[in-house]
Amino acid sequence: MRIKVPEHLVPLDSILPEEPLLMMGAGPVPVPARVAAANGIVINHLGETMSQIVEQVKSMSRYVFQTENGRILGVAGPGSAAMEMAVANLVRPGSRVLSIVNGLFSGRLADMAERLEAEVTRLPVGEGLAAQPEQVEEYLRQYKPHVLTIVQGETSNTTWNHHLPEIARLAHEHDCLIIVDAVCTLSTMPLDMDEWNIDAVITGGQKGLSCIPGVSLVAFSERAWQFIQSRNDTLKHWCLDARLANRFWYEKSYHYTAPVSGILALHEALRLICNETLPVRFQRHMRCSEALQNGVQALGLSLYVEKSARLTSVLGIHVPDGIDAGALLQYMSKRYRVEISGSFGANIVRIGQMGEQCRTHNLFRTLHALGSSLQSMGMSLDLPAGVAALEGTLDAHEFA
Ligand SMILES: *Cc1c(COP(=O)(O)O)cnc(C)c1O
Repeated sequence: MRIKVPEHLVPLDSILPEEPLLMMGAGPVPVPARVAAANGIVINHLGETMSQIVEQVKSMSRYVFQTENGRILGVAGPGSAAMEMAVANLVRPGSRVLSIVNGLFSGRLADMAERLEAEVTRLPVGEGLAAQPEQVEEYLRQYKPHVLTIVQGETSNTTWNHHLPEIARLAHEHDCLIIVDAVCTLSTMPLDMDEWNIDAVITGGQKGLSCIPGVSLVAFSERAWQFIQSRNDTLKHWCLDARLANRFWYEKSYHYTAPVSGILALHEALRLICNETLPVRFQRHMRCSEALQNGVQALGLSLYVEKSARLTSVLGIHVPDGIDAGALLQYMSKRYRVEISGSFGANIVRIGQMGEQCRTHNLFRTLHALGSSLQSMGMSLDLPAGVAALEGTLDAHEFA
């Protein structure tokens, strides 16, 4: 044996802390203990248990996506792989695509369509603003796209496209398929795939669903599925070919080795959502997000996006003058073991309100860590007022 284990790695201690950090950023989010336990199991990817799990994942997903007959397919990959699966299967080389771009993730959908050699038109939306139906309709008239892409929530700058139902209706009227990225919003706020006539909905594990990263879902409408089946060209993406994935998800046969542990975790996450029910879950998210918004403002900080277009699942907060965002995040993590996110563009920090993040005790700990860290960094703010506003809003909802 010529090659030895590097000396500095012997003995190798675990890097992981005994007690995990509280993950309150823009994802990944904490997972319930049952989801973590399910993720620790490996079973036969084509066995009888797996096929029952797959059936249940599909029917629970249909509830979560609110679709009677949508075609549910899982993807071994990040939310971006699910985005690429939706785009690659609905966009052909030369297809006209209209991409509503509010920020990083909605821009990624446009980039993906471009790589597939589509003719992409971007509709740029001002920073922190929601896409306006009138403008979308103008673009639909002018460019006659075959596919429209949009995010429900733009995680990167915490904007909510609250006119989504109206925009989806317009797309339908113009005979255009609509792909909706709901990675950070699904199961945190209403999204009614059938009612709104959406053709593809994308989600990832590690955000709204409060599951592990690396396992994602796509739901295709019947109209989208017909289009996919009618294609006579061969998809360039073998792993992401929906017709091949259909073998595993609908025909109990082999496409690639499914991420069994991840699917078990997803099954458990979906089961928890179904047991909670969507209305109760939406209410929990609304209550927690409002309480956090009020708490943050009562501290003396300001929120990045105006109320009407403000995303509730991820909250953007202006970094106060004289404070370095990176140093703030580091301080919160080191001293309070609470992690929140910075941003890719604007000078904001972001606090997630997805799944397990929306728990009362997590809110108190996060708001305190934020306020107290800023005070230690020399900023003067009203920590008791922040905590009181948080508590007051939570109580008001509870007794409403
Ligand atoms: C996080 C996110 C993605 C990308 O998910 P990955 O798992 O990082 O690939 C896409 N869209 C939105 C809206 C997101 O929040």
